[in-house]
Amino acid sequence: MESDFNSPSTTQSDSFRDHINTMDWKGVRKWVYPRKPKGRYYYRRTILSWFLLLFFLSAPFINVHGDPFLKFDVLRREFFIFSFPFYPQDFSLFALVTIITLVFIIFFTVVYGRIFCGWLCPQTIFLEMLFRKIEYAIEGDKGAQQRLNRQAWDEEKIRKKFLKWSIFALLSLLMSHVLFAYFLGADVLFKSIEEGPFQNAGVFLMIFINTGVIYFVYSWFREQVCTLVCPYGRFQSVLIDKHTIVVAYDYKRGEGTTGRAKFKKGEDRQELGKGDCINCGQCVAVCPTGIDIRNGTQLECVNCTVCMDACDDIMDKIDKPRGLVRYTSEYSISTRKKSQFTSRMFAYTAVLVLLVGMLGVLLAFRTPVEVKILRVPGSEYNIQGDQILNFYEYALINKSSKTVNLHFKVLCCKGEIYFPYDQKQLRLFKGENHRGKLRVIIPRAEISQAKTSLRIGVYDQNGRLMDIYTTAFLGPFKF
Ligand code: SF4
Ligand code: SF4
Repeated sequence: MESDFNSPSTTQSDSFRDHINTMDWKGVRKWVYPRKPKGRYYYRRTILSWFLLLFFLSAPFINVHGDPFLKFDVLRREFFIFSFPFYPQDFSLFALVTIITLVFIIFFTVVYGRIFCGWLCPQTIFLEMLFRKIEYAIEGDKGAQQRLNRQAWDEEKIRKKFLKWSIFALLSLLMSHVLFAYFLGADVLFKSIEEGPFQNAGVFLMIFINTGVIYFVYSWFREQVCTLVCPYGRFQSVLIDKHTIVVAYDYKRGEGTTGRAKFKKGEDRQELGKGDCINCGQCVAVCPTGIDIRNGTQLECVNCTVCMDACDDIMDKIDKPRGLVRYTSEYSISTRKKSQFTSRMFAYTAVLVLLVGMLGVLLAFRTPVEVKILRVPGSEYNIQGDQILNFYEYALINKSSKTVNLHFKVLCCKGEIYFPYDQKQLRLFKGENHRGKLRVIIPRAEISQAKTSLRIGVYDQNGRLMDIYTTAFLGPFKF
């Protein structure tokens, strides 16, 4: 039976629906030996991946004006994104960014399927562009790897396996250090290395465990992260629809009216009703998750494009147009029309634009120093000669990445602010919270009502206005 995402071929064997291809019927792992990919999409992905790898490996070590480019220090509650500092007080921003990211992922998936998995996901990049390439370089292509794994532990096998596993271990160690720098900072990492393991047992243990996990994932667990663990892959079934662009086999073209058939030189396939698919199996041989794209869209497909390249190569050889396996939608394949922008896509776009707008406003109004000044609960005004005095409590947060010396000024009228011990300035280290008390004294002549709106400006050591807070100033009812 043909459904939206199934090619007619699924009627021939639907067994792929009952189990994942990387396990046999008893649930035992079947090792995937994907053939070494090549082609235009793979080349583009390789170029992109080098940039992404460079970014990943360098971002936590880059400093802009002394601040790390990227850092997510959960323990010290310090976050730097593109060297902009964020603290727990920016929780509303974090919440909004999280929602935007989720909506963006949903929207992106609805329109483009798992394009993220194939082109940008760190798991795919590290596995396919780093570890797998090393494996190909040492053990050779699909057939050579299978032979090597079957053969006895002779000199060749020991040498190749030892070399591969050693390089994998070193790479895992490097990645573990980089991850550590992301979460605890490059400064802590270098200091710990300098001081040695005895003074930093916790740090070294963390790096050691992390190295083990990375090694396990890339040397053994591999594609199972995508097929068994990753929640994003599981979402696909509810997010994609017949208009979503995915890596798909054009079953109308591939099957023709009589189905796919082996290639015979000089034969007019069209006249015989044969499709363009010559059943060569190359799209299956290169697939890193071990699936057959001709069975339709499957949860295991990470849209890595290598089956597109493999099929294009075959099409070139048999002199047929490329794109039998290509980026397209089920709607496009079944109707031979272009994909449409659906109302679901429009709704997600509208929500996304709205949220990004809100984020822009919040970022624009985000001040480096946040101030709150409230009258001491239950306190009354005091009259001292020709002056009126009110008592306040203040709370300050330094959200910048520098130490600041702050002073306060009454902005609404003539008035003076006094801190305990006649302090003139308040010093706040980066990320510091500070609470205290202050008095505001305003000449009686300036006050004409029982409750005056009092605006207080907070300035840094360079006279730069950091924030303004408006609170109430009480006075007598009649003057
Ligand atoms: S079916 Fe194609 S795009 Fe999907 S994972 Fe396999 S090779 Fe990659
Ligand atoms: S590579 Fe192309 S022609 Fe060969 S089996 Fe796959 S879809 Fe058919």
